[in-house]
Amino acid sequence: MQLKSLEISGFKSFADKTKIDFQAGMTGIVGPNGSGKSNIIEAIRWVLGEQAVKSLRGTKMTDVIFAGSANRKPLNMAKVTITFDNSDHFLPLDYAEVSITRKLFRNGDSDYLINNQSCRLKDITNLMIDTGLGKDSFSVISQGRVEAVFNAKPEERRSIIEDVAGVLKYKKDKFTTENKLAETTDYLDRVNDIIAELN
Ligand code: ATP
Repeated sequence: MQLKSLEISGFKSFADKTKIDFQAGMTGIVGPNGSGKSNIIEAIRWVLGEQAVKSLRGTKMTDVIFAGSANRKPLNMAKVTITFDNSDHFLPLDYAEVSITRKLFRNGDSDYLINNQSCRLKDITNLMIDTGLGKDSFSVISQGRVEAVFNAKPEERRSIIEDVAGVLKYKKDKFTTENKLAETTDYLDRVNDIIAELN
């Protein structure tokens, strides 16, 4: 799987539709301070499902929508599409190319699409969870995160290693299953109470 392109429009400083094609090998993005380099990385994290507004340097999610400039009105929608070459079928989908789109409107409505088909945010996070590319993954290392790893407590570092090793998915599944089990046990207790009352 390879990152092929990123299309950004109405997201942060990218008012106009901007497409970045990634070639094989290494890509460097250079530009003066404040020209939008970090916004590109944030667009990648956002389209892959980032829900933490703070880590997108905002106070509410709609802050990612182009807020206007001296000579331009604010926009009503942010849209980002990321496209992967999936000819090796690394992503478990029958497509040689997979594109993921996220849209956010100023009224708070969102749209998520996989290959132009409407889907839920959960479908995107589930698709990405095993790839090492999920929103919390270490494929995106932001400024300050290296120090954060060095300064982490042992148990925090363990959770980082578990994440990289792909254990996190099973921990989440275990947590969900344990909750369901507890709920079912509660129901069973109630049924047993009713049976006891009837006897
Ligand atoms: P540096 O090299 O200093 O880290 P950078 O190239 O990474 O800078 P960014 O931090 O990506 O730059 O971009 C910051 C710019 O994006 C600022 O000028 C800011 O005003 C603009 N910006 C952020 N959010 C929005 C928004 N919602 N609408 C319009 N512009 C925005």
